Amino acid sequence: AHPSIPLPLGSAFADAFPELGEPWAAIVPEHPELVVLNEPLARELGLDPAQLRTPAGVRALLGNDLASTARPVAQVYAGHQFGHYSPRLGDGRALLLGELHTPSGTVYDVHLKGSGPTPFSRGGDGYAALGPMLREYLVSEAMHARGVPTTRALAVISTGRSIARDGELVPAAVLVRIATSHLRVGTFQYAFATGDTELLRRLTDFALARHAPGRPYASAQQSPALELLDHVVHRQAELMAQWTLAGFVHGVMNTDNMTISGETIDYGPCAFLDGYDPAAVFSSIDHQGRYAFGAQPGIALWNLTRLAEALLPIVMVEQDEPCSESPGTAGPGEAPQDADADAQELAIAAVREVLARYGPAYDAAWTQGMRAQLGMPDATDEVVVETATVLLGALERDRLDYTTAMREANPANPLYIPRNAQLDAALAAATHGDLAPFHRMLEAVLHPAQARAEFVDLAEGPDPRSRGHVTYC
Ligand code: AMP
Ligand code: MG
Ligand code: MG
Repeated sequence: AHPSIPLPLGSAFADAFPELGEPWAAIVPEHPELVVLNEPLARELGLDPAQLRTPAGVRALLGNDLASTARPVAQVYAGHQFGHYSPRLGDGRALLLGELHTPSGTVYDVHLKGSGPTPFSRGGDGYAALGPMLREYLVSEAMHARGVPTTRALAVISTGRSIARDGELVPAAVLVRIATSHLRVGTFQYAFATGDTELLRRLTDFALARHAPGRPYASAQQSPALELLDHVVHRQAELMAQWTLAGFVHGVMNTDNMTISGETIDYGPCAFLDGYDPAAVFSSIDHQGRYAFGAQPGIALWNLTRLAEALLPIVMVEQDEPCSESPGTAGPGEAPQDADADAQELAIAAVREVLARYGPAYDAAWTQGMRAQLGMPDATDEVVVETATVLLGALERDRLDYTTAMREANPANPLYIPRNAQLDAALAAATHGDLAPFHRMLEAVLHPAQARAEFVDLAEGPDPRSRGHVTYC
C-alpha cells in the first residue's frame, strides 16, 4: 500500500567482477524501525530525508525494494587476520547494494552491514547487534567531522529481532553506509590467489578509474599496477598520519579492513586515546598488541607490502611487454627461466621503490598536521618535530590525556571525542531503548572543536587510574 521509492543504484562492480561477488539478497525484517538517519549526508547524496523516513524509504534503505538496475552482491576477499592468511573471507554479514551517483558527480558504494547470512558467513550468524552498529555510526561520523577520510554512516535500522551476543539477547540492526569503494587490500590478495592475471589487471584498472581518475601521482610512473600502488601508499600514509594526530586506534588492521581508497573502514573495537600511550590497545582479542596505537603506521606498511605482492604478477607482465626497453627482457641466447627470474627481480625492485615512499609521505603528513595542531604555522619541520617529541614524551611519562593536551596547545583543536566509557554507556542506553545519550554525544562530536556549556561533561577525560578499557565487538 506504500509507494515504492527504490534508491537509484547501479551495478558496476557486480557486472564487472562476477568472480568477486555472489549475487545475494538482504533479509526482509518484519518490523524494521529507523533508529537514526544522517539527514545532511542523505541530502548530499541527492536523497530526500523525509522520503527515507517513510516505511517505503526504510524498505529502500534495507535493500528490500530495489531499482531494476541494482544487483546486490556479497563481495569476496581474502586477508591476513592478525598476521594469518585466510584465503576466503568475504561479506559474511554484509552486502554491496550498488553504486549511487551523487548530484556532484561522486560515485559511492551503498553497503549494508548486518543484512543476514551469506555464502561467506562461515561460523557467524550473519547479523549485527544494534550497539556496535550505532558505534560505527557515531565514531565514523566523528572521524568525518575531524576531516579524517572514512566510510560514512547513512542510517541504522533495527530489525525487530533479537540475536545472542555474549550470552545475552540484544536487538539486531542493519547499518547502511557509504564508501567511495569497498575495494580492500584483501580484494587484491584474493584476485592474486586465483592466478588469473587478467582479473588482477581489470581490478587495477577499475580501482584507478574509481580512485585516481586524474592519476595525481602519475608523473614518474608508466605501469598501472605501480601507479595504483603509489596511489594507495600515499593515501594510506596520509590516513595513518591522521589517525596518529587524532589519537585514534582502529583495533583490527587486518588486510581485509584496509581500503584501496584510503578511507577508514570497519569500526570494531576502535577507540580514541585517553592518556597518551603508544602501547595502548583497546581490543579484547589483541593480546600481542599487534594493532596498538603506536604500531599502526608500521602495520599499514606491512599491509601495503601484501598489496605489492598481490600486484607483482602484473608488474612483471608490464615490465616484460615487448615494447618495453627494460634490460630484464630475455636477450638472445638467454634461457626463458632466466628471463622470468630477471623480470621478477625487476618487478620486486620496482615495487620496493614505491613502498619506500611510504615513510617520507607519512612523516610529511604528520609534520604538517602537527604544525597545525601545535599552532606553529611558521615553524620549520625540525622545530615542529622537536616540540612534539618533547610534548608527547611528557604526556607519555604521566599518561596525560591526549585530547585535553592538544586542546591546550592550540585552542582550535577538538575538545569532544567519543570517550570510551561514555560511548559504552550511551550504547547500553540505546540497547535498552533510550537514544538520548547517543544523540547527545553525536551532536558534540559532530562539532568537535566548538565548546558548549551543555556538553561540559563530555569534554572530561577519565580518571587516570581507570586504565585498561577494552571493547568487545
Ligand atoms: P570484521 O572484523 O567486522 O571486519 O569482520 C571480519 C570477517 O568476519 C568478515 O568476513 C565479516 O563478514 C565476518 N563476520 C563478522 N561478523 C560476522 C557475523 N556475525 N556473521 C557472519 N560473518 C561475520
Ligand atoms: Mg560469483
Ligand atoms: Mg571487515
